[in-house]
Amino acid sequence: MKMRKQAWLLLLLTAFTGVSCSYSQPGSAATTKKPAMTDNKTNPVYNRQDSSKVNISEDEWKKILPADVYYIARQKGTERPWTSKFENFKEVGTYYCAACGNALFKSDTKFESGCGWPSFYEPISKGAIIYTPDHSHGMTRTEVQCGRCKAHLGHVFDDGPPPTGLRYCINGVILDFEKAKAAEKKAGYDKPAKQEPGE
Ligand SMILES: [Zn+2]
Repeated sequence: MKMRKQAWLLLLLTAFTGVSCSYSQPGSAATTKKPAMTDNKTNPVYNRQDSSKVNISEDEWKKILPADVYYIARQKGTERPWTSKFENFKEVGTYYCAACGNALFKSDTKFESGCGWPSFYEPISKGAIIYTPDHSHGMTRTEVQCGRCKAHLGHVFDDGPPPTGLRYCINGVILDFEKAKAAEKKAGYDKPAKQEPGE
């Protein structure tokens, strides 16, 4: 009987230690907010002027890209449909690769495809994009990648509108947008342009 009592005591003690253990980690980092890596200061290859090819290791990419961009660009992920802010976006300007800054599409080739991802009918230039046959998921598709850094962008299908008949179905996460200043003036908007302080 004595043995049994000891065993119980041991059990109780273990249980108690277990509890006290989990309590000994006060508020485990729940309050520390990670800084959002939305700027490109942490990405040394991002450059909208430099067209030279980017060839760095996957480890490097993982270090310099935000997790969501890395997942699409390097792991060929797909964002959930209807989640991109660019899906119904109508501003005039240029779309760049979010991984390297390469110009990819102009806003005037963007159209509403209804497929849930930002869609374009033509890239900004021939070299902007690389085409690769993709036989994954039991389908035959054409993958489109950034011509500068080979980031996965999405796929191109032949059910797009004229003049090309193509539909570039692109993950919004891998797009960076810059509003065209010249286009705003050219379009002859009489609305007073937003004044940037210090400009
Ligand atoms: Zn790129």
